[in-house]
Amino acid sequence: MASQEIETLSAALARLPGLGPRSARRAVLWLVKRRETSLVQLVEALAAVQDTLVECETCGNVDTRNPCGICADHRRDQRQLCVVEDVADLWALDRAKLFTGLYHVLGGRLSALEGVRPEDLSIGALIERVAAGGIDEVVLAMNATLEGQTTAHYIAERLGDYPVRITQLAHGLPVGGELDYLDEGTLAQALRARRPVG
Ligand SMILES: [Zn+2]
Repeated sequence: MASQEIETLSAALARLPGLGPRSARRAVLWLVKRRETSLVQLVEALAAVQDTLVECETCGNVDTRNPCGICADHRRDQRQLCVVEDVADLWALDRAKLFTGLYHVLGGRLSALEGVRPEDLSIGALIERVAAGGIDEVVLAMNATLEGQTTAHYIAERLGDYPVRITQLAHGLPVGGELDYLDEGTLAQALRARRPVG
């Protein structure tokens, strides 16, 4: 029987996405055996992000500074804006290193079922960014789910009056596929073969 402290740690880890109670206990055991190296490192890394994590007021990314590293990077193409549902999607696309423009995180997707309306997402802020000018292309990189596609169509309509090219990821992606779970090659291909929203 493990101590209360170890049980508490296991329970906390078990709540992480992708981990269950069994994997959490294995992770704890693994950390305990590597107390001086991995455990200390993990504790320090957690403390560091706890103190510094902020949401970027421009794009909605999560980083240790505001504006985030992507928004502050002037080498990136300021004329291209890629719209994603969640920060995890932004990170997935950025890992693929094919998109060199800026991002906009919606903070979710429209959903009649879950009662998510346009005003619950950062769509207003997106329209403002586009209305401010200087953007040539908006890439809608929603997930290949019904709700993702509904969201993309809604945004395309709202942006219809602005002089920007609106494109969409080529979803040779599996239907229901979430960006975050795709390998980088598939993502890169979807981005390269993006097509106008019609
Ligand atoms: Zn940002």
